[in-house]
Amino acid sequence: MSDVSVLEKGQALKKILIIEDERPLAEAVQFSLEKEGYEVDIALDGERGWEMFSGGGYDLILLDLMLPGIEGMEICRRIRGSGSTPVIMLTAKDSDVDKILGLEMGADDYVTKPFNMRELVARVRAVLRRAILEGEVADSKNRRLEVGEIVLDPERHEVTVCGEVVDMPLMEYRLLELFMRNPGKALGREYLLNKAWEGDFYGQTKTLDVHIRRLREKIEKDPANPQHIITVRGVGYRFEAGGSKG
Ligand code: CA
Repeated sequence: MSDVSVLEKGQALKKILIIEDERPLAEAVQFSLEKEGYEVDIALDGERGWEMFSGGGYDLILLDLMLPGIEGMEICRRIRGSGSTPVIMLTAKDSDVDKILGLEMGADDYVTKPFNMRELVARVRAVLRRAILEGEVADSKNRRLEVGEIVLDPERHEVTVCGEVVDMPLMEYRLLELFMRNPGKALGREYLLNKAWEGDFYGQTKTLDVHIRRLREKIEKDPANPQHIITVRGVGYRFEAGGSKG
């Protein structure tokens, strides 16, 4: 039953690396995690662990703090420096947890030895779930936004209208991104100012109108009769996919 629980969610098989020099403990953890449907490898010392991690392909690292070869703390730092692979530290009772979870090492979680396998499995699941969610958020932030002839590409930080690249200063770009992420919603002037200027706005709200006017000149077929950026009196602006007759 628990064998399918991980795969049922439609996730790809997750690969876990255990770096732990106590072989019986490492094998017991491997057994428990494999029963849950994970693919699990073991490294019995720090050097081998770092080598295997560097080979790539792991979704989570279980890392012992006290290791022969390269110590756990150093490996954790290196893993952090190389990307976002989550790390759960296996620690002794008197370990400095602040250090482990803090900036110095930056582990995602820890369990204290001796630990209960069920607790470890629950931690592994929680950390993997969080990593998947964070990955999805990052993906959606980079997704191209497309409304009619207007395309905004966050990865390239570029806007095209009818296939032509449009020169867009940062504030106009941010405003357009806000609009395209919230189609059909009336967005208040304060909201737009705060979001586009990231809370760093000290000018007058008239500035907003200037930017909106410039934006309309770039994306509207007839800027005097806008089909996309619609003025909502007393509130602010609303972005429409277009097609409404003006
Ligand atoms: Ca150890």
